[in-house]
Amino acid sequence: MASEKEAALAAAPPPEDAPTIFDKIVNGEIPATIVYQDEKVLAFRDINPQAPTHIVIIPKVKDGLTGISKAEERHVDILGRLLYATKLVAKQEGLDDGYRVVINDGPKGCQSVYHLHIHLLGGRQMNWPPG
Ligand code: 5GP
Repeated sequence: MASEKEAALAAAPPPEDAPTIFDKIVNGEIPATIVYQDEKVLAFRDINPQAPTHIVIIPKVKDGLTGISKAEERHVDILGRLLYATKLVAKQEGLDDGYRVVINDGPKGCQSVYHLHIHLLGGRQMNWPPG
C-alpha cells in the first residue's frame, strides 16, 4: 500500500463535484464501520488506522467542500456540526485522556480524498510537532 504521502501526492485535486470514495460510503455502495451518524454527518473507522482509534468524520453532502480551503460562508453550519460530532464520537469512544483532531488540506497537507473530512485519532500518546 502506498504511504499516505504518496497517496496524497498522487491524488490530484479533482473538480468540486467529482464523486469520491466517501460518497460511496455515504450511499452504502461500499462498506464501512460506521460509528456515528445524524442527519448531516457520518463518522466511520479509517481503513488504514494511524492510531488505535482512528475515525473519519464527514459531511454527508459535500456541497463543494472538497477540503477546508474551499470553505465558504454557507458552510459555517456544517463545519460546526462536524466539530461537535467529533467531540461526541471522542466521548463515545472513551477518549477521555485526550485525542488529536486533524484536517489535511491539499497535496502538501497530505490530503488524498477530496471530500472534507476530520480525522479523530486517539488511544495512544501523540507527538508534537507532527510529521
Ligand atoms: P486524507 O489523507 O485525505 O486526509 O484522509 C483520507 C483517509 O481516508 C485516509 O486516512 C484513508 O486511510 C481513508 N480511506 C481511504 N479510503 C477509504 C475507504 O474506502 N474506507 C475507509 N474507511 N477509509 C478510507
